[in-house]
Amino acid sequence: AAADADTPGVATRRVQVRRQEGQGDTAASAGSGRLAFANAPDTDAAVEPNRRWGAALLGRAVECAGPERLADAGEVQAVSADVRRAAREWAGLGATGRAAVLHRVGDEVERRRGELLGVMAQECGKTLEQGDPEVSETVDFARYYAGRAEALETVAGACPVPVGLTVVTPPWNFPVAIPAGETLSALATGSGVVLKPAPEAMRCGSLLAEIAWSAGVPREVLRCVDVDEEGAGQALVAGEEVDRVLLTGAWETAQLFRSWRSDLPLLAETSGKNAVVVTPSADVDLAVRDVVAAAFGHAGQKCSATSLVILVGSTARSARFRRQLVDAVRSLRVGSALDPASQMGPLIRPAEGALLAALTRLEPGEQWWVEPQRLDAEGLTWTPGVKAGVAPGSTTHLTEFFGPVLGVMVAADLDEALALQNATDYGLTAGLHSLDPDEVEHWAPHVEAGNLYVNRGTTGAVVRRQPFGGWKRSSVGPGWKAGGPHRLHGLVDWRDAPS
Ligand code: GLU
Repeated sequence: AAADADTPGVATRRVQVRRQEGQGDTAASAGSGRLAFANAPDTDAAVEPNRRWGAALLGRAVECAGPERLADAGEVQAVSADVRRAAREWAGLGATGRAAVLHRVGDEVERRRGELLGVMAQECGKTLEQGDPEVSETVDFARYYAGRAEALETVAGACPVPVGLTVVTPPWNFPVAIPAGETLSALATGSGVVLKPAPEAMRCGSLLAEIAWSAGVPREVLRCVDVDEEGAGQALVAGEEVDRVLLTGAWETAQLFRSWRSDLPLLAETSGKNAVVVTPSADVDLAVRDVVAAAFGHAGQKCSATSLVILVGSTARSARFRRQLVDAVRSLRVGSALDPASQMGPLIRPAEGALLAALTRLEPGEQWWVEPQRLDAEGLTWTPGVKAGVAPGSTTHLTEFFGPVLGVMVAADLDEALALQNATDYGLTAGLHSLDPDEVEHWAPHVEAGNLYVNRGTTGAVVRRQPFGGWKRSSVGPGWKAGGPHRLHGLVDWRDAPS
């Protein structure tokens, strides 16, 4: 077994085995399961085998050529024109031909899981626990969009027509699944794609492109590029020949893109400030587990992360929730993403601005339940923080921090909790922990968010089962949800069907 552990292929297989043993009925819903419950931390004996095979996996050298560097607007325009031209032949393959290629992409991603886990850990600080389900989600996207492409048909007398060029600008926090989902959805419809990975995730994006090429996506139809954000970046996103732009990032970035071209055909998933309500009827063990996982997974760097927990009525007054939450948060293992035992890795960049303030300061009325500690000189690695006494209307209540700090608020009843939950400018995910069906029925129609979760964490939307996308400042554009049945409708043009 010790020799096996040093063989990446064997290690990869073990990740797959562990995934199959996870809960849930699709690949993406499984894969973590090592989060500490209050009072029941993993033992070293349980962690040790993971440490052996994981070390071989995460530390392995991953070869990839990197993106093409485009120096200026002229080079961008030439690439865009080439992709549009090549897309005609790709569209001509038909949905079934393209779907077959996408299925092969899914198979190839599955086969190269170990490389993807390694590059995500090395480049973006993704722990094994977080990276493994992300690769599964990527496979799910490939297979799901292949099926949706074949199902895309005439609707109400209009038929779908492939566009020529889709520009994909994904974030660094899901450096494989989001670029993959966006790129593969556009390719599924017959569009060509220029993928510009986030600057922090260039190797992840270009490894993904290499995998897609090796599975049969023509290189002319998918280009992976690196440009300066201004100048060439503007030409890439706002060129007149661009048919769709798919952005996942800050709401401000979507506004910047729009300022470059007012009629930009943009579909963007942007920012969140997500709260979970816990009522007195909740299963406290479950609520604590879900809140901790969704608040601190990937160090809170997810649009979907739980940023606030709102305790209702006697839950706020009882010591039990606090005690279990504090125990669970303190039990998280924080460390390098290259250590497979780490449950929380570093931030993508040293904490600054609102996040640094949230990690180091209290607003009036707030108190630390768990005070974060900085573990390195640069401010990259922090232990998780929980602050209670968060006041309505405060910065902690309304500002997205994108880091490992959770605020606790209290409400007299469910309606007051709903008002607090809906008070932010965003509307991406929202949670309720309650075992009372009347409460669930009352809550769901009143909460202003795109993804609602009952007795489940707010992160990790499962392709097909939980199409992902928000309201208010969490979404810009027509809002067809990612991983949902209508996503491809937003990526094609519609022409009158011949009668
Ligand atoms: N789809 C991811 C989830 O459900 C979040 C994506 C994001 O953070 O942008 O957790």
